[in-house]
Amino acid sequence: MKWGIVLSTSFPKKIRIFDTTLRDGEQTPGVSLTPEKKLRIAESLDKIGVDALEAGFAAASEGEVKAIKLITNAGLRAEVYSMARGVIGDIDSVLKTGAVGVHLVIPSSDLHLEYKLKKSREDVLKITADTTQYAKDHGLAVELSAEDATRSDLEFLTKMLKAGVSAGADRLCPCDTVGVLIPERTRELFSELKKRFKKVPLSVHCHDDFGLAVANSIIALKSGADQAHVTMNGLGERAGNASLEELAVALKANYKVNLAIKTELLYETSRLVSRITDFPLQPNKAIVGENAFVHESGMHTHGILAHPLTYEPFPPELIGRTRRIASGKHSGSHGIRASLKEMGLYPNDEQLNVIFLRVKSLGDKGKRVSDADLQAIAEAVMELPATRPIKLEEITVVTGDRVTSTASVRLNLNGKMLTEAATGVGPVDAAINAIKKAVGIVEPMKLENYSVKAITGGTNAVTEVAVSLSKGDRKATAIGVNEDIVIASVEAMLSGMNVLMTNYNKQKLKEKT
Ligand code: MN
Repeated sequence: MKWGIVLSTSFPKKIRIFDTTLRDGEQTPGVSLTPEKKLRIAESLDKIGVDALEAGFAAASEGEVKAIKLITNAGLRAEVYSMARGVIGDIDSVLKTGAVGVHLVIPSSDLHLEYKLKKSREDVLKITADTTQYAKDHGLAVELSAEDATRSDLEFLTKMLKAGVSAGADRLCPCDTVGVLIPERTRELFSELKKRFKKVPLSVHCHDDFGLAVANSIIALKSGADQAHVTMNGLGERAGNASLEELAVALKANYKVNLAIKTELLYETSRLVSRITDFPLQPNKAIVGENAFVHESGMHTHGILAHPLTYEPFPPELIGRTRRIASGKHSGSHGIRASLKEMGLYPNDEQLNVIFLRVKSLGDKGKRVSDADLQAIAEAVMELPATRPIKLEEITVVTGDRVTSTASVRLNLNGKMLTEAATGVGPVDAAINAIKKAVGIVEPMKLENYSVKAITGGTNAVTEVAVSLSKGDRKATAIGVNEDIVIASVEAMLSGMNVLMTNYNKQKLKEKT
């Protein structure tokens, strides 16, 4: 069966991806990265196949110069750029980093000229020519961006870009700095600019203030641009930039464009960037959100089990994910039977009906039903002894502003005592690391997702931690509830690990032999 639709073939032969996660993305309020963290993200973006990386804004700080230097020295395949304003000193900072190119950003709208830059149009033309010339004289490739281009006078924008081209600019980018473009206007703008700049390649740089960043980027790529500026997870100022994962998958799955991005690495890269930037994703985020391949409603799970394409736009494997069937208020008996089968539990029809009703009634009370809950319900209904291979014997966490958080745990794994200690960026991280270390020796498992919410307000609030774990192809969700966030996290981890370690299929076999 075929999936997706072919709409057009009018894309350029080669679409270039210019990733700005480490510059525009880092400008996300609350995000600030150390050079080492930037390097880790750069390496993962390089692996995924982006053509160019904007690694930072060299003139911003010494740390920024150090970060860009680290990245240029890492031997990546992607071209490394640094941003600079139309200031000679900014370009000197770029020269310290070893970057091959400068992303030179100069405002073109009267609004920016009058209120921010306090310069005339003539000044801007001269600045554009001088700084472009200076960068070229020093051997840098120049990606010249007109800031706020989409609210600029087209004739002046053309003049300014021409001044850049005469001074040697390699590429032009009319930035949609505040995300006001709509697809129709994008087509007009890029078609017109392509007419005026036949020989100079164009980039598109969109922001998502109206949720149109990816749509506008696609239209631009069909109307004269051959490179898109994007960020992983759509990070960026305000509502963010056009998202790498959304653009790449839309182009590949819906437009059948042969894009040189390894989409099967998108999910793990998204998780890595989310972890390192400490910027969680909304569950319903397109492509990489936690719920993008989770099915709960009875009608949908029934369809999915018969044929996954009934309720999925493309196979999750395309982006390196797997699908999951969740239990809850909207569950159907087919979905619950399938989830239990994964655990090796085969209730008869009567038992299944009781389990089904209990899951529904929990859901009706507004509770999330995790896989660990489903297993416990099934065990009770099927009168199976509740086996929990891992039990917590003891946990101690030391934390403070002058010490690295350290946790030590003692676990009972099927009667065997396991003791481990680990450090972490905070008490929760340390505790989880210690548990992973202790159990990992016997059964390697991966923590895919961790989310926390306070159920009541105040510092004595009850905390609910939800985790999603995987072991090979199997996945399990679990919830921990406690006044103490560390204990809630530990409970959720152990409860999820217990689901993955309980294998009724194996036990049955053992009983038979
Ligand atoms: Mn921007």
